[in-house]
Amino acid sequence: MTERRTALVTGANRGIGLEVCRQLAAKGHHVILTARSSAKAKAAAATLHGDGDVSPAVLDVTDARSIQLLARELASRGVHVDIVVNNAGILVGESRGVLETTDDDLRRTFETNVFGAIAVGRAFVPGMIDRRYGRVVNVSSEAGQLSSMGTYAPAYSMSKSALNAFTRQLAAATRGKGILVNSACPGWVRTDMGGASAPRSVEEGADTIVWLATLPARGPTGGFFSDRRGIEW
Ligand code: NAP
Repeated sequence: MTERRTALVTGANRGIGLEVCRQLAAKGHHVILTARSSAKAKAAAATLHGDGDVSPAVLDVTDARSIQLLARELASRGVHVDIVVNNAGILVGESRGVLETTDDDLRRTFETNVFGAIAVGRAFVPGMIDRRYGRVVNVSSEAGQLSSMGTYAPAYSMSKSALNAFTRQLAAATRGKGILVNSACPGWVRTDMGGASAPRSVEEGADTIVWLATLPARGPTGGFFSDRRGIEW
């Protein structure tokens, strides 16, 4: 096995995030499985009993105090976060066109999918810089690809483009410091968000995310990946 690391995954009580936790724990890493409530985090972590070292924790990515509390608590226990998977995401107002999308849908979507990921990065990347090691995976979507963007889910799609821009900014800001920052598209996956008719399992959806979260030192940074291959922005 590669060196044991500590990974923090947001929105990990179900869906792709939960599977990312399972796969990272199975690789021998310490996983901090975060969810919006303690009950959700504990219940999800209990389902991974036997898969490895998984600690439940509370984290609402839209709540600055929640992020600060967790960062302080981990620091006080001497837990260093080496890997962040910004997985938490929402898809709302999917069927409304860009001109009909409400301010509320736009704001809620950006709060979670973009500002949440940036705030989590702000809390944990400085420690990675100090320790000269870090992996950040922003869970994006093909819906955010500018090269092929159409009319699908405007708030969500635009939020994922902005998340990809955060990937580029953070990768550039941390280049040469032992930190690799990338965006991942899991494909269309059977989860509450993806629905029952999606073609992919959570195992398949989590694969590229886990691969990026555990890249070797010479791995890529500032890229957008699907099925472990670079894709267009
Ligand atoms: P999901 O089943 O709907 O799970 C979303 C997770 O995000 C839940 O754990 C949810 O927690 C959490 N969450 C929402 N708002 C949060 C907040 N403010 N703070 C912390 N956690 C929050 O979705 P999924 O399909 O697993 O999606 C995971 C990621 O993959 C998302 O970023 C999504 O955009 C992306 N993605 C999914 C697909 C797909 O086909 N499924 C395709 C492309 C990209 P609660 O249970 O508390 O609501």
